[in-house]
Amino acid sequence: MIAPVMPTYARAPLSFEKGEGPWLFDTNGDKYLDFGAGIAVCALGHAHPRLVEALEGQARRLWHTSNLFNIPGQEELARKLTDVSFADTVFFTNSGLEAMECAIKMARKFHSHNGDEKRWRIITFEGSFHGRSLATIAAAGQEKLTAGFGEMPGGFDHVPFGDHDALKAAITDETAAIMIEPVQGEGGIRPIPSQCLRGLRELCDEHGILLIFDEIQCGMGRTGVLFAHELAGCTPDIMGVAKGIGGGFPLGACMATEHAASGMTAGSHGSTFGGNPLAMAVGNAVVDVMIEDGFLDHVSEMSGFLRQRLAGLQDEFSDVIEDVRGEGLMLGLKLKAPNGAFVEAARAAKLLTVPAGDNVVRLLPPLIIEAQHVDQAITALETACEVMRLDASTAAK
Ligand SMILES: *Cc1c(COP(=O)(O)O)cnc(C)c1O
Repeated sequence: MIAPVMPTYARAPLSFEKGEGPWLFDTNGDKYLDFGAGIAVCALGHAHPRLVEALEGQARRLWHTSNLFNIPGQEELARKLTDVSFADTVFFTNSGLEAMECAIKMARKFHSHNGDEKRWRIITFEGSFHGRSLATIAAAGQEKLTAGFGEMPGGFDHVPFGDHDALKAAITDETAAIMIEPVQGEGGIRPIPSQCLRGLRELCDEHGILLIFDEIQCGMGRTGVLFAHELAGCTPDIMGVAKGIGGGFPLGACMATEHAASGMTAGSHGSTFGGNPLAMAVGNAVVDVMIEDGFLDHVSEMSGFLRQRLAGLQDEFSDVIEDVRGEGLMLGLKLKAPNGAFVEAARAAKLLTVPAGDNVVRLLPPLIIEAQHVDQAITALETACEVMRLDASTAAK
């Protein structure tokens, strides 16, 4: 008999009832160090006092009015986001895939609005992930996402990761945009080299096509800068963010330049819930904390410390860990041991991590961790490495 909750997830046998900073407490009272942060969502940890205050305050005043009316919180958050980024304008959504859906529609609309109807195709990259709607699985194009769902929406051209010649060959007079994650998340924490991102920018400018960055996982302070593309020193025309921007409240945003958004006129796109007052109260509080002096410096400092400790771990367990990669507090351990078993072993040692493609284990701690949490995580990771080593030696016998 099918479970009342549709069984679309392979869940760990744990439930949590309370969170505080980087800690989660399960229903047995056990305490876990959360280096998954709800998949890079709880950027400020659990139950951050400023977010709790913002949500509680708004909950007493007003929950929802719809986008038939002005929502002052949207104006405030959009102004903050445009002040600190390349963007001139923002569309609010409830999730990451909706932000990317908006990006895809906007890029296509841009060209038709500017009299070039035939430009509607978007170039995407192998190993990418943009969400689970039909358009976003078609965009990623991976068999494991699309199998069994019939004919996919058209208009996406997939090129291999890092293959410059294939990319150049894929550009035609039907290309509307190139869409890429500056650091691939689900694909296994694979940062795109800065010169490649800048190369994409040049290629787009040369051919009059739009550049879309998916910063849903790598954005919002995760890499030690507010948006990951700042590390490369180039900007997109359109960008999706979500995950960290709501700190655990469902919120996403599609940000764009005035030029790229020129086709997005009244009636061209919409959402019932997107940008509702509750989400805006929390989003504003998240961004206020992140743009305070020292917040991003702290992320970089913790990243440096964690990376240094992980390099030590890799030296000690070179039979288990092949590589440490990523940016800021978006780090991946590329393993020789199976990543699923490693995640379980870390969990048994009371550390939560997240598996990814390419046999990687993701470390995505809240951005507010301190050195002591890094120490505790390393101790748990050592235990997990020892378990993996033992498993390998028993398997060899
Ligand atoms: C999580 C994620 C998405 C999808 O976000 P949802 O909120 O699950 O729809 C899209 N792109 C990237 C890079 C992501 O990490």
